[in-house]
Amino acid sequence: MLDMKPACEKCGKALGHEDAARICSYECTFCPDCAEAMASQCPNCGGELLTRPKRRARPGKS
Ligand SMILES: [Zn+2]
Ligand SMILES: [Zn+2]
Repeated sequence: MLDMKPACEKCGKALGHEDAARICSYECTFCPDCAEAMASQCPNCGGELLTRPKRRARPGKS
């Protein structure tokens, strides 16, 4: 289960559920700016940082 962390672990920038964010497989969470600065590699576990899926406010089909 994904734990949606509320802030970047590097710079502390607030990350809402609607904001773009990057996570690794251990759920380390970073803002896109930090993720790109780290070449999309997690500094904690060395895993690849991937785009976190957004929670959509509106359910339904596109
Ligand atoms: Zn950051
Ligand atoms: Zn990590």
